[in-house]
Amino acid sequence: MNIMVSACLLGHRCKYNGGDNYCEEVRALTDRQKVIPVCPESAGGLPTPRPPCEIVNGEVVGSDGVSRDREFRAGAEICLELAKEKDIDLAVLQSRSPSCGVGKIYDGTFSGRLVEGSGVFASMLQANGIRVIDAAELTGEKL
Ligand code: SF4
Repeated sequence: MNIMVSACLLGHRCKYNGGDNYCEEVRALTDRQKVIPVCPESAGGLPTPRPPCEIVNGEVVGSDGVSRDREFRAGAEICLELAKEKDIDLAVLQSRSPSCGVGKIYDGTFSGRLVEGSGVFASMLQANGIRVIDAAELTGEKL
């Protein structure tokens, strides 16, 4: 299987604060598969570290009030093209992220509350008929 994975889940330090979201369950699932790690926010040209962003009224905005919508969407497009080129079977994505979250994301108030919805990249993959799962489905974490 060709599996695209949020790079931070594999230990890449591309998270907004310079850390990672390493997940043993994801590593185990992707063991002996063809893995394509991606970070759509980095692909869109955003630096690490960077201000945390959330989706506010449909637009990606940083906690500093600056729109990062263009970068998020450009990065998601680049990663979507890679997903098509590599003919991936599945994408395993990081929970709650305004790029990668599947089904639940932060609500745009920077208060830690979640709402129904998916991140920009996860939505784009789904719209293109690509199967996505949230890492929380593997860990059993309740979102
Ligand atoms: S954009 Fe996705 S891959 Fe990159 S740090 Fe955020 S959750 Fe991880």
